[in-house]
Amino acid sequence: MAPPVPLTSKRPTRVASGCCAVPAARVDEREGWWSRWSAALTAALCWIFLLAAVGVDHLTTVPPAIVLALYALAYLSGGAFACFAALRDLVVDRHVNVDLLMVTAAIGAATVNAWGEGAVLLALFSSSGALEHHALGRTRRAVRALMELSPDVATLLRPEGEEVVPVETLALDDVVLIRPGERVAVDGVVLDGETTIDQSAITGESMPVARCPGETVFAGTINGHGAVQVLVTKLHQENTLSRIIEIVETAQDQKSRTQRFTDAFEGRYAVGVIGASALIAAGAPLLLGWSFGDAFYRAMTLLVVASPCALVISTPAATLSALANAARHGILFKGSNHLENAGVVQIVAFDKTGTLTGGRPQLTDVVPLTAATGWDEAELLRRVAGVERLSEHPLATSVVAGAAARGLVPATATAFRAIPGQGVVADVAGSELAIGNETLFASLGREVLPDSPAAAVADRLRTAGKTVMFVGDAMGIHGVIGVADTIRPVAPAVIAQLKRLGVVRTVMLTGDSPRVAEAIAAEVGIDEVYAGLLPEEKLAVVRRLMTEGAVAMVGDGVNDAPALATATLGVAMGAAGTDVALETADVVLMADDLTKLPYAVSLSRRARRTIRQNLAFSLTVIAVLVASALSIGIPLPLGVVGHEGSTVLVVLNGLRLLRSREA
Ligand code: ADP
Ligand code: MG
Repeated sequence: MAPPVPLTSKRPTRVASGCCAVPAARVDEREGWWSRWSAALTAALCWIFLLAAVGVDHLTTVPPAIVLALYALAYLSGGAFACFAALRDLVVDRHVNVDLLMVTAAIGAATVNAWGEGAVLLALFSSSGALEHHALGRTRRAVRALMELSPDVATLLRPEGEEVVPVETLALDDVVLIRPGERVAVDGVVLDGETTIDQSAITGESMPVARCPGETVFAGTINGHGAVQVLVTKLHQENTLSRIIEIVETAQDQKSRTQRFTDAFEGRYAVGVIGASALIAAGAPLLLGWSFGDAFYRAMTLLVVASPCALVISTPAATLSALANAARHGILFKGSNHLENAGVVQIVAFDKTGTLTGGRPQLTDVVPLTAATGWDEAELLRRVAGVERLSEHPLATSVVAGAAARGLVPATATAFRAIPGQGVVADVAGSELAIGNETLFASLGREVLPDSPAAAVADRLRTAGKTVMFVGDAMGIHGVIGVADTIRPVAPAVIAQLKRLGVVRTVMLTGDSPRVAEAIAAEVGIDEVYAGLLPEEKLAVVRRLMTEGAVAMVGDGVNDAPALATATLGVAMGAAGTDVALETADVVLMADDLTKLPYAVSLSRRARRTIRQNLAFSLTVIAVLVASALSIGIPLPLGVVGHEGSTVLVVLNGLRLLRSREA
């Protein structure tokens, strides 16, 4: 198999806290054997040398130099990464981290001849680092798997013949050939040929979809039985797959609020601990008359037990595990901050078309109003389909499919433009044709009058729960199209589940008419309806709701983008949905599966709970150990075990979030 495509270079990601004695791996690098296993290997080596040293020391009479050498090896394997991380932070970022504390403590222990304690410290420290690396590795491997989906080369069709070229060199409007069984290398539109495509890699939907000329395909999906020519519509680095990879990659860089707080705290705290230890080592012999060795030993104990290792790892151990869990369920959080936000949501606002409804509406009614044009049903639909072919709206898709089912060849349309939340306009056969709702025609100055035949037809269709589109031009309204947009079967259960999870209000925001909106809302169990909204009005409603609580906005369309960007949590439906929705949302439900929403909320709650447990636990342990180190004085080994033990427990507690649990 060909090697995965190297992505364009990214800044190196320094992940999580200073507490992970892990080489600074770059996520976009191809993950090699070393970067995957080095942390575990060095931790294991450290344990082996430590046990060997202890064993040799107790059981035999070998010269002390050999024991010392074994300890030195344990130090080296357990502490090398921590040492690098500490120095890099100190020199490059002028920042003191816990790695530095640990390395100082271990060296300090060695200077008072407590090699064993120092080695135990490093062994446990590197083990918790390895555990954390394991949690991170899941995300890294997910990225790598995604990158392997995308072929490196494509078959470019030129006038002089076929040529296999790297995908990065493809330009917009190039035409590529995709043979049966091949992975699609580009985002594009089918020009010629018919096929079925397995889109599960992008949409999660396992049923292959049929693809004819005019329809879109995504890079990373698998072509079925037909050979098709595809027009490239997105450059390689902008295609959907590349953007998903980018989201996954950057997610772990986006720190949550809690983590930013503990990070800021870490540096100052670490300096404080080093200062206090130095003070005890130097001051206690002078002021309290302790022996120097005694004071130094206590100072080292303090250094170890007061280190905030468990504290700084508390949050990332939980959030990174939860992010990996979410990704496995097709929930793409763009960062830990959004993960934390999902748990506090009190109000959920849904878009109607394509979100609460299936997004695969059926064309049911084509009603020509022939007075001005003489168009019959077929002619009307032929023209409408010609325009809608250029739109990516779910309603448009249903019209095009309806026309195809009736064996109609769509008319040619040019000068297409979409007005989000209202409709579309294009030139057909020399005149401008508009398709959309009342608002569209009002803004074009061709009001749909309440007592007109068009309004009567619309009324009849809406009473039957259908979504209505008017068709008209400069001369007036020439027809009405009716579409039955059925709710997603899971929607009522999802709403009920959100209520059980403590969401207080559910709201629908739609550009469709109030009558249809109310009917759908009643069917799925939505509390409040705002209908006939323009995109900026959706935004205004979300703003107002946000004064009453944290708001999640769930949507799929261009007209949802402003609201998605503003809400506490923007949720986009489907990675194959509209680009802007994918771009502006904070979470993407890849498989277009609404049931993932309650899952995300409850996962977030679990993560928040785990973080709180971890923080409370690690703070308590530090307080108890520091208090006893300063008062009664505890032996260093006990301090090491208490301190590192709590770190390991905190990481393990975080790793529990890798397990799925139903919402
Ligand atoms: P929602 O907010 O429920 O997702 P939209 O705002 O996308 O719905 O659409 C609102 C209304 O605008 C639709 O009911 C329809 O009348 C009109 N409309 C939007 N896009 C199109 C289109 N491509 N073709 C025709 N009508 C459209
Ligand atoms: Mg929509």
